[in-house]
Amino acid sequence: MTAAKKAKKSAAAKRERKERRFTPEATYASRATVYAGMIGALALGAGVYAQWLREEPLRYGPYLLGLGAVCFAGSLWKGAAEVGSVRVGDAGVALESGGDLVRILWCDIERVSIDAAGKVQIKGKEASLAFPADAHPKALAWVLSEGGRRVPDVMAVKRADIEALPEPKEFDGELVAVEELQVAGRHCRATEKPISFERDARLCPNCGEAYLKDHVPKKCLTCQAELGTRAREA
Ligand SMILES: [Zn+2]
Repeated sequence: MTAAKKAKKSAAAKRERKERRFTPEATYASRATVYAGMIGALALGAGVYAQWLREEPLRYGPYLLGLGAVCFAGSLWKGAAEVGSVRVGDAGVALESGGDLVRILWCDIERVSIDAAGKVQIKGKEASLAFPADAHPKALAWVLSEGGRRVPDVMAVKRADIEALPEPKEFDGELVAVEELQVAGRHCRATEKPISFERDARLCPNCGEAYLKDHVPKKCLTCQAELGTRAREA
């Protein structure tokens, strides 16, 4: 192998970031979806009775049938589509919704909590994301375990809630490579200068904080992890 090829290979290895992708639990359906499904089924039943089983069909029979069918089909469709997959790993937490991916790096997370409705709320400096804990118990367990290690100060989840979760296991979720991280446009945490080119950026491997390559501190200013030569190319 030539020197140039070798160098290229090690640069590529440096960039590798991994994360776990979790699809929502198959048994999960939100309460609204369950109610819509129940109402739909009831209306369908009443509609069938009003339209065909009664000796004199009721005028509103067809409407009941239509309403029931719409609610029922809607609940089935929504049940599968309303909660997206969650990703947890080197590049923070990301939520897939439709074709979009909302990502919040560990360094940008201000608070992780569970609200009264049972939703995991991840509040970031610019974006925020939320998903029902019931739909993603394993993803939540991983958010708390990785977040607790990387940025413990922003974790605001009660001990009782943590204890109710499954233990994070090595083979949870699907291990995927992190796609390109948006670096250009971020500001160096040490100098506050904007980072215009990806090649000038160095990232904290622990929390994802960005620095200009000539201003990498010994310790990450956001998460206190040892940096120096451990800072990675974007
Ligand atoms: Zn850091």
